[in-house]
Amino acid sequence: MKKLQPFWQIGFILLVLIFPAAIWSWGFVAHKWIHREAIRLLPLPLRGFYQSVADSVIEKSTEPDLRRRRVKNEEFHHYIDIDHYGRYPFVEMPRDYQAAVQKFSADTLLQYGDAPWNVARVLDSLVVAMRQNRTKDIIQFSVDLGHYVADLHMPLHSSENYDGQMSGNNGIHSRFEWQMIERHQGRIQLTPNGVDSIANPTAAAFEIILNSYIWADNLLRADTHARDPQRIYKAREDFDDAYYEKLFAVAGPIAEQQMSAAATAVASYWYTAWLRAGRPQLTGK
Ligand SMILES: [Zn+2]
Repeated sequence: MKKLQPFWQIGFILLVLIFPAAIWSWGFVAHKWIHREAIRLLPLPLRGFYQSVADSVIEKSTEPDLRRRRVKNEEFHHYIDIDHYGRYPFVEMPRDYQAAVQKFSADTLLQYGDAPWNVARVLDSLVVAMRQNRTKDIIQFSVDLGHYVADLHMPLHSSENYDGQMSGNNGIHSRFEWQMIERHQGRIQLTPNGVDSIANPTAAAFEIILNSYIWADNLLRADTHARDPQRIYKAREDFDDAYYEKLFAVAGPIAEQQMSAAATAVASYWYTAWLRAGRPQLTGK
């Protein structure tokens, strides 16, 4: 992996200052990594198109996080607190949006995160942009779709206890997805699977969330075990090398697995959009 460029380092420091807990996404390193891997997985000729716009698709992968302050309701598209609605496997939540609205109201669905339905909406937009060969929009919707699909794989995007705030693990969200991954990126290897078309985009997004949810507890436990019982952890710098080494022993494989699955899923959603658009020849102009 490349070292962070100075611009990103400054951006990162600013972001940390402005938003002490980055609780709405994978970190910048992870998002770019997932998009880069996803492009590699695509079958030809679609891969050729994505390679021709790879710089934008990779570089903009974090844009949906950065616009959440200026775009209304943006923040709700990155997660779903599925455990708000019941217990695993959450059969009480209808996967169909209209049925879910009837049961819980549109406001509630938005407030606790609408990621699985939003993924399907963005996919539809990407299909239309591909049919019309509008490169700028294809890039934009590919970036958005890839980002939201990647976010579904972050285990703490599936739970009301998204930052460990209900279990004494405050701050675990960014320690896992950001600091740990940046520190140990040289030791992380992604092993994504092949790409597949997706029959039901919303149902598939719920499947991803259910799989993510299974790992949320492990992350919280990994955080607890990584702490030295003799030490007080308050400020960011209290979490030292020893802490991250222990965290990585358990949470590293979870990050590898979830980021690998994310790369496969992102490529599969892009591929599905292209199939639905009728396999257009995208020119990249
Ligand atoms: Zn996000």
